[in-house]
Amino acid sequence: MKTVKILGAGPSGLSAAINLSQNDYNVDIFERNLDVGSSAKGNLQGVENWSEDLDLIEEFKKMNIKTNFHCEPFKNLRITNSKENWDFSCNKPAFYIIKRGTDKSSLDQGLKKQALDNGVNIRFGETAPISDVDIVATGGDPKFKFAVGKGISFETEHENIAVGLVNNYHAFKGYSYLLVSNGFGCIATVLFAGFQDLNKYFKRTVDEFQANYDLKEKHPDKFSGYGSFSNQIMKKGDQILIGEVGGFQDLLWGFGTRNAIKSGYIASKSILDCEDYCKLAGNHFKPKLNSSIVNRFIWEKFASNNYSIILNRIYNSEDPLKYLNSFHNFNFLQKLTYPFALFYMKYRYPNLKL
Ligand SMILES: Cc1cc2nc3c(=O)[nH]c(=O)nc-3n(C[C@H](O)[C@H](O)[C@H](O)COP(=O)(O)OP(=O)(O)OC[C@H]3O[C@@H](n4cnc5c(N)ncnc54)[C@H](O)[C@@H]3O)c2cc1C
Repeated sequence: MKTVKILGAGPSGLSAAINLSQNDYNVDIFERNLDVGSSAKGNLQGVENWSEDLDLIEEFKKMNIKTNFHCEPFKNLRITNSKENWDFSCNKPAFYIIKRGTDKSSLDQGLKKQALDNGVNIRFGETAPISDVDIVATGGDPKFKFAVGKGISFETEHENIAVGLVNNYHAFKGYSYLLVSNGFGCIATVLFAGFQDLNKYFKRTVDEFQANYDLKEKHPDKFSGYGSFSNQIMKKGDQILIGEVGGFQDLLWGFGTRNAIKSGYIASKSILDCEDYCKLAGNHFKPKLNSSIVNRFIWEKFASNNYSIILNRIYNSEDPLKYLNSFHNFNFLQKLTYPFALFYMKYRYPNLKL
């Protein structure tokens, strides 16, 4: 039996491990923490359901991932700039809410259980040199940071709700959100510039949501983190890079979880079918990554002073999710805009490998 060694037991590493272990591979994962999801603090995440044609749950099935964790479909979403509201009611889930952390219902624990049930050996509290492993799945790399986030997770009796808040007073060039799903809640702000003022924007965000929603938060816990992006790194020497350490993020809004799980699946396929990982991953991700460079360029240059224009466009489109989907395929207009967007982004984010 062949052995594959993976560094990091986040969604990307566990997805690769689950698929390899189902196909007669011994899998060893080195996880530096004592449990999966240890640094997440129970925050809720929205896993978007518009960038692919396939529904997320169907895609999970295709990737041999069982939904043994909290994963609640949300068709309704309010976007507000705190003056105007846009209430979206979609004909299919716009996103699924999952929980991160060490709670039994979290994505991390669900994936861990699937991996352990398949015989994966997770070596908690251990690490290894990159040169000793086959797959690197260590999450964000501070060198390629493009956004920072800060939030608070809590328990609440408020009904399920998802609200996105976009204006430069609450999150400069970014956004804030309130999510409540099955008794768990989360308020967060994500910035794409002015990182040093994160605390100020976070406080404003919490004040805004607390003033407008009767949340009665219990057992609050703070969390923070950052997103890292590149459209260039999929390998480092002989090692395959998956998830955020491979740059598989969304430069527009920072949705990385779906990409992480998918890149783990693609890595396992490349090993099982003896195919070139960069080619397989590039075919799937390059159009999405390049699109997100253009999308952020457009968002910052033409939308972030007045989000109403772009929000009205999305709201008034026949099918908002289909409309959003069209911005993830590196379409003809995006290809035309790409050289300008790339030039701008290289200047705007000199640290990113683009
Ligand atoms: C505050 C915040 C909110 C977010 N919200 C959303 C959202 O709503 N929707 C969405 O789609 N995405 C969201 N994301 C992004 C998403 O969480 C990441 O893209 C995703 O977790 C990446 O998965 P990963 O497996 O690459 O890395 P991670 O989830 O970071 O897992 C990496 C694992 O590797 C381990 N590790 C790291 N270094 C080593 C080492 N040297 N040795 C051993 N182990 C190591 C870590 O302990 C960790 O367990 C958010 C991110 C943050 C920070």
